[in-house]
Amino acid sequence: MLTQYHIEIMLNALGERFSPRAMSAITYANVNQDRLSGQFGHNEFHFDNNAFEKTYAYIEEQRALTVSALQKTDVLSAWSAFGRMTHTLQDFYAHSNYITLWLARFDGQALPPSSKVDPVDLSLIQSPDLRSGKVYYPFELLYFIRKTRAFSLRWLPKDSHAWMNLDSPEQGFKFDYAMQAAIQRTVIEYEKTTQGFSDEMCKLFLDK
Ligand SMILES: [Zn+2]
Repeated sequence: MLTQYHIEIMLNALGERFSPRAMSAITYANVNQDRLSGQFGHNEFHFDNNAFEKTYAYIEEQRALTVSALQKTDVLSAWSAFGRMTHTLQDFYAHSNYITLWLARFDGQALPPSSKVDPVDLSLIQSPDLRSGKVYYPFELLYFIRKTRAFSLRWLPKDSHAWMNLDSPEQGFKFDYAMQAAIQRTVIEYEKTTQGFSDEMCKLFLDK
């Protein structure tokens, strides 16, 4: 997803829970995953290239880091790890065909509003049909440059990130479903991560 949408998701999902200082540290770590050096060789940051196992391991590593940093009262490290984790979870809906598979269930019927999307349908998360976009260099780079985007799409296969992504509203109506799913999933994973926190840990983490 583009940076502005990661920020929008974070504010919608968690803006009320954390202090502004905590929110800005978490959101900075989230969007910083899309820095140039985070784009190459890091499928696990963005759910790219069907690297599902590696990506789930990365998510759990960041969750564990969040908890262990808080236990050491290192709140900056906790916010950073949690921010990195949320980035990856949000990219799942923009970089995989989860939303496409979910919408396909309503084949021929009126689609429910995007607020009704189920972000954790296990039959889809575990489906053999679940895919995420492959990043084909160098053509994928041309996709990011507006002038060469159309050219790159002519060469890139349909299973590429360029064809599959729901990174911005330009990709059509499915983008809204990806946004809603990402917002809801962020809340779910926040609750999963903080369950079992002591009062002290909560206070430190929320900075309130
Ligand atoms: Zn990303």
